[in-house]
Amino acid sequence: MRGAPETMTVLRPKSAKEAVSLYAQDTGAMPLAGGTDFMVLWNIGLFNNRKILDLSGVRDWRKISATRTSVVIGALATHAEIRRHPLILKEFPLLAEACATIGAAQIQNRGTLGGNIANASPAGDTFPPLLVYEAVVHLVSARGKRELPISEVFAGVKRTTLLKGELIESVELPSLGKRPTRQIFRKVGMRLAQAISKTAAAGLLTLGKGGVVEDFRFSFGSIAQTAVRLTEAESLVVGKKLAPSVIDEACRLMERNVSPIDDIRSTREYRLEVSRNILRRFLEGNRT
Ligand SMILES: Cc1cc2nc3c(=O)[nH]c(=O)nc-3n(C[C@H](O)[C@H](O)[C@H](O)COP(=O)(O)OP(=O)(O)OC[C@H]3O[C@@H](n4cnc5c(N)ncnc54)[C@H](O)[C@@H]3O)c2cc1C
Repeated sequence: MRGAPETMTVLRPKSAKEAVSLYAQDTGAMPLAGGTDFMVLWNIGLFNNRKILDLSGVRDWRKISATRTSVVIGALATHAEIRRHPLILKEFPLLAEACATIGAAQIQNRGTLGGNIANASPAGDTFPPLLVYEAVVHLVSARGKRELPISEVFAGVKRTTLLKGELIESVELPSLGKRPTRQIFRKVGMRLAQAISKTAAAGLLTLGKGGVVEDFRFSFGSIAQTAVRLTEAESLVVGKKLAPSVIDEACRLMERNVSPIDDIRSTREYRLEVSRNILRRFLEGNRT
């Protein structure tokens, strides 16, 4: 079946307040941001006879701004806006890099950060950076506001912990304080554009006196049901020097947090091998 627009009712709120109120009255309505995920399903008729909550008129949710201790990205900011924003480029370059790898120019110009999160694909490319930056997702509903660490947003493949009637308002990135000694975003796909990740990684490492690791955060997308932080490898590495035995053990521990699968894009073995190599080279201080 094809999408039949004449069967749909489009609600067009002009403010966040109106969007929340309309959604509270009809929690079965389908939020629409940039429409890049939405249109794929629309095209096969999945939204026929549905109400659509078009968020594009909520201008406040497009803004990217700084607070004293963080940068706040409105849910409707597009990947193109994020990848070019001076504050993001300076403070959170891994997110800018991730947004620059999403689809191609057309998708980046329409696709939004809020839509990427709400869609909750295991291959969402913004998630590894959001995890290492310990982003906080701001949600709003008629019941009020709620904050969720990004690590608590994903419940499984295409499933989130958002409650009925909740919309994503913004994503807050707390300032890092000290600049990391090393940082990486790496996406591995079939092509440079229009590629869904086989694996995607983001990492931050801060070295202190004598080469002892002060802070280490590393996450992968596409190799588990949701994007994941390597919690065990992180705990192992912090407080130690990056000796070969520590790096070997961190690479071994990585497997406790991931569960890559065979699918049309890649095999479990390839995903694991490439991901392990990315982690190893990052810990060894070798980007290539
Ligand atoms: C050709 C193509 C290539 C792509 N390539 C990539 C890629 O490389 N990497 C990648 O990560 N993704 C990719 N995507 C997926 C998609 O572009 C992104 O997930 C995008 O960020 C979705 O944002 P959107 O604004 O278009 O969301 P929409 O399509 O408008 O919405 C997506 C979902 O989120 C919900 N939603 C949207 N906004 C909100 C909100 N504020 N609050 C609550 N729910 C909301 C909608 O109801 C819907 O369920 C690709 C898609 C296509 C079609």
